[in-house]
Amino acid sequence: MPHKPILFVDVDGVISLWGFDHDARPPGAFTTVDGIVHFLSAAAGEHLLELGEHFDLVWCTGWKDRANDYLPHALGLPGPLPHLEFGTPAERTAHWKLDAVRTYAQDRPAAWIDDAFDDSCHAWAAERGAPTLLVATEPPTGLQAVHADRLRRWAGALPLTS
Ligand SMILES: [Mg+2]
Repeated sequence: MPHKPILFVDVDGVISLWGFDHDARPPGAFTTVDGIVHFLSAAAGEHLLELGEHFDLVWCTGWKDRANDYLPHALGLPGPLPHLEFGTPAERTAHWKLDAVRTYAQDRPAAWIDDAFDDSCHAWAAERGAPTLLVATEPPTGLQAVHADRLRRWAGALPLTS
């Protein structure tokens, strides 16, 4: 069975949006998660549903396992999905998600969609031996068709592995 590449999926700024002009609110719905109101993008859910055909989706978010409590149901995604756990601040060496991403990805092709990459993420992507793609989003709009198209094209161009 060929393996799909991994897609690490951030939530805040990718699926949960903020900072948009309320006169031009994207399609989606407000939902309350642990007492905090979030606006979940409908487009992000549709794109992730389709990207799940091409990638193994992994939550890569401070929501950690709580992403599974809310998001598959709210977005119409199959779930639960695997999720990353992050070390304590003292254990981290760079971007707070990077150690967990590195450990989970091992030598598999991996893409990562997030609104808050830093230089250490780009350095990690550049030095990996396996194909790697970072896709940056903006919090007011999140995951959009242009990002999904880029991810799909990247996955489609990977050499077949087994
Ligand atoms: Mg984020």
